Amino acid sequence: MKNAEKFIHPTKFTGNWPNWNGFAFLDWHKENNVYHPGEDYNFGYGDQDLGQDTNCTANGIVVHVSKRTTGYGNLIICKHNLGYNLRKFIKETYGIDTNKLYSLYAHLKDISVNVGDEIDCGQKIGTVGKSGTKWAHLHFEIFAPIGEIAKKAWRFYPVGWSKEKIGSHIIRNNVVFDCGQAGIVGSLGGVYSKIYNNHIYDIWTKRIFSGAEMAGIKIHASIDMLIKNNFTATVRPSKGSDILAACGQLSGKANA
Ligand SMILES: [Zn+2]
Repeated sequence: MKNAEKFIHPTKFTGNWPNWNGFAFLDWHKENNVYHPGEDYNFGYGDQDLGQDTNCTANGIVVHVSKRTTGYGNLIICKHNLGYNLRKFIKETYGIDTNKLYSLYAHLKDISVNVGDEIDCGQKIGTVGKSGTKWAHLHFEIFAPIGEIAKKAWRFYPVGWSKEKIGSHIIRNNVVFDCGQAGIVGSLGGVYSKIYNNHIYDIWTKRIFSGAEMAGIKIHASIDMLIKNNFTATVRPSKGSDILAACGQLSGKANA
């Protein structure tokens, strides 16, 4: 299978709604209350594009073909192994370090490839249709794999959560004391962060505030965090919530 060296548009523009070049990223789908994770090429009122060629966006291999009358309708998914330059570009532009991407083509009228077919960039793989949708258009997505692709969950954002993309914090070697609610606190901003070697004491001793989340360290959704070797003392003495966190790595905790 040839590496992908470039990506091209999967069908030609005909200038339908909503903008001059005929495609749209509809990021929030109000009716269904979901994110629409792709682009709708030549979406509009009318079926002018029915039967128009749909071409593979890059060198790749067909990994999925299915025919349905709802949802994505007739669907093709291709896998693309990235060439060196493309991989470098994606890493620099989107912060995603991956050696493969998937492209998805939905609502097709006809499908002219099978699983396992090796496809060249620009090669016809099917035609624009309206299977599973009201008006003829090509729904197109590019996504990066997150682990192994689950069969039923095809939808992934190309720009997902990664340490490179959203950043992280290091909170270390601090002395934190005399706090009304929590010594060190974070919500989703704590993802990928490290909290270690902090000395935290006299938390919620004055009882000015009420609530159940008084703590030396309090993190909501401590996903992929490291919370290590923190020393806490006199934290909410009656109940002793020195650290409130879940999902992260927690070790070397010391209390007094
Ligand atoms: Zn769509």
